[in-house]
Amino acid sequence: MTGKTHALGGIAAGLAYAHMTGQPPVIMTGAAIVGGLLPDICHSGSKIGRKLPLISKLINLIFGHRTFTHSLLFLIIIAFIMNRFIQIEALTAGLIIGILSHYVLDMATRNGIKLFFPLGLTVKFPLTIRTGGLAENIIFSILAAASFYFGFQVLQFYI
Ligand SMILES: [Zn+2]
Repeated sequence: MTGKTHALGGIAAGLAYAHMTGQPPVIMTGAAIVGGLLPDICHSGSKIGRKLPLISKLINLIFGHRTFTHSLLFLIIIAFIMNRFIQIEALTAGLIIGILSHYVLDMATRNGIKLFFPLGLTVKFPLTIRTGGLAENIIFSILAAASFYFGFQVLQFYI
């Protein structure tokens, strides 16, 4: 999936979670956008990879693309670091939700992800799509509709 689909995936997931849990939606969604983009740090051409080229190249060199940063192990490490050093629930939850949304979206693509890294097993849905194609545009539209829906729900709570 492209960066904009992942960013929107983070927004939709963050708003949905804020709606369900009553967590502060702005912090939640902001963290979820970062989480939605973070796993592609393994790819130097990605949005986040271009922002942090050195770290990105290093991770790509060590692990390759869509392996460690697309795994449950990465998710656990991020959750541990956040719980240990940051300790702001909405930030941690937003980041985790965003990363999960990234995994789900990439599992819908042909290459899938190495969810159980260091095991080499590729995980993907039975039906997959091509990145940047028409199907991704449809997914993007669904995510936009979901973002509006949950955004409206969250807003209603505050007015
Ligand atoms: Zn990815």
